Order: sequence, then structure tokens, then C-alpha cells
Amino acid sequence: MPEIIPIPAFADNYIWLLRNGDVAAIVDPGDAAPVIAYLESSGITPCAILATHHHGDHVGGIPALLARWQVPVFGPAREKIPGRTQALSGGDSIEVPGIDATFEVIDVPGHTSGHIALFGEFAGGPVLFCGDTLFTGGCGRLFEGTPDQMWASLSALAALPPETRVYCGHEYTLANLRFARAVEPDNADLRAREAREQAKRARGEPTVPSTIGVERATNPFLRAHLPDVRLAVAAHAGQDMATDVESFAALREWKNKF
Ligand SMILES: [Zn+2]
Repeated sequence: MPEIIPIPAFADNYIWLLRNGDVAAIVDPGDAAPVIAYLESSGITPCAILATHHHGDHVGGIPALLARWQVPVFGPAREKIPGRTQALSGGDSIEVPGIDATFEVIDVPGHTSGHIALFGEFAGGPVLFCGDTLFTGGCGRLFEGTPDQMWASLSALAALPPETRVYCGHEYTLANLRFARAVEPDNADLRAREAREQAKRARGEPTVPSTIGVERATNPFLRAHLPDVRLAVAAHAGQDMATDVESFAALREWKNKF
């Protein structure tokens, strides 16, 4: 039975293993050591590496993995990815060898300018690997892209089927939801979610994945166009929000200083 396994790395990163039998594809291996340790102890052989964007905490482990296993490296065409063999752009469809999985590539510029997300069916339903674009309860910082780009990227991800499981690159959920509560103190779905996620962390479990449906109901960065969120952002910024993008940009600024 295929499964998706989190490998914690650094302080709060997740490297994802897409396992099918004794073979696995590795998503965003920022560090090789925990991946090698897991593969060795479980007898799993890697078949491919998938990278969402060029930041070191997502690709830093690739050279050491390639030194041991010669596998294809799928990564964004517009970014520098170590050892990349397959350059991906939005609209591409890829077959990952060994694990019987097909993914659609979605361009999601904003956190970095060439960031991609991968969407497909695996382990019993639709799944999304979105790196540092959409976070559970939040979104990535705009290091290279513009608010327009990030809003369009997040809107594209929000339009995926609500049951889609969201696998992002970091365990940031509780901090994100604290901010979300400041934006939407009356959102009952958000309060219920925060209690659920706190319980998971108390048990030592990841809060990732969530689903697109949960994110649409509770993640303020997918809700910047809604009247209540727009009003809260305007009140915080002390000026009216004329457009959805303006509301999103001011919300991101608010979070940066929260
Ligand atoms: Zn990043």
C-alpha cells in the first residue's frame, strides 16, 4: 500500500517520502543524513528526487544522495537545482519512475520566482506538494516574487479539490493559526482547528498534511478576498483595501511583523 512518510529535518522542515513497496521518491531533501538513515533502517531504495524550489533547506541534501544513488532529479526549470535531470514548468505532467505516480506541475511563483507545486493521486487520493508556497494555516514569505504572483499562486492551489491533502515544507501550523486568530477571531472553524492541531503537537504528531478544504476555511491567506478578512486587514493597516491583491499584500505585511 503506497504511503507518504514525513522525515523531520533541521528545526522544522519536512522531507516527504512517497513510498510504494520498497521504493520511494524523495521530496525536498534539504538534508541527506536523516533521509539516508531512514532508507537504510527501512530497506527502502530511492527512485527519484523531486524539488519544489531552490532554497538550501529543500535541496541541500541532493548532492550527497546522488553520490550514493543515481536517480533522476525533477525540479523547476527556472531555478538552479543541484543535479537536476528533468526541468519542469507549469502544465507539464510527469511520471515518477518506480512508484507508479503521475503529477501535474503547477507554477506557483511568489516565495521564489520559479517555485513549482506538484499535484496528483497517491496513497488513496489527491495530494499536493507545495514546498514553501501554501503552508498549513499560512503561506511563505515573498522573497523573490510579488504579491500579485503569490495571490495568483495561492488562488490556483485553493481551486484544487477540497479533499486534496496538502504536504508543505515546514511545521509552522500553530504559529500560523495564532496569527489567523488575530485576523479572524470569530471564525469557529479556525478555533476548532487550532484545538485539533494543538492536540496533535502535544502527542508529538505532525500537523501536516491538512487539506485544501480545511485551508480554505481557516487559512487567512486563502481568504484575503472575503469581506471579514478584508475589513480586519483594513482596520489593522488603517486604510481601505481596494483590491484582493492589496488585501493579501497587507495581510502578508501584518504577519511579517506579528
Ligand atoms: Zn523556501
